[in-house]
Amino acid sequence: MKIYSEMITLQEVPDEITYTISVHGCQLGCKNCSWANVNIEPYEFTNKMLDIKLKEISNYISCVCFLGGEWNRFELIDMLDTVKKYNLKTCLYTGLELFDIDVYIRDKLDYIKVGRYIDELGGLKSYSTNQTFWDLKNNEIINRKFH
Ligand code: SF4
Repeated sequence: MKIYSEMITLQEVPDEITYTISVHGCQLGCKNCSWANVNIEPYEFTNKMLDIKLKEISNYISCVCFLGGEWNRFELIDMLDTVKKYNLKTCLYTGLELFDIDVYIRDKLDYIKVGRYIDELGGLKSYSTNQTFWDLKNNEIINRKFH
């Protein structure tokens, strides 16, 4: 898949130290999307590269998060399997809704953020947001952890 960046973050997934991969090419076109006018050349990131990276850092992180973008279903599934090989949690941020995500992908996720970004309603930190952050293993919405 084509990505913009990879970095370790503490904000995307509550209570986790997360290796966050920002995926290129989201087509949803939310107004004021922070990635819409970004001036970074995307680069190819393969499952093999993910595996090598996780070999290096898996002892220092607890989760891997794929952020936004346009992923190929099979590539994403392969990468989620690679993450699970290291006993790490998995998260997907998407502008789609929960029912849009195929069950096969959903079953491989521990967390998911769904809902497009609507500027007037704000993101996960906002009380009026339309977006929902799910702890899928406990079947619980945990937006409160962002407040
Ligand atoms: S879903 Fe996220 S990445 Fe896609 S356009 Fe909306 S804000 Fe941007």
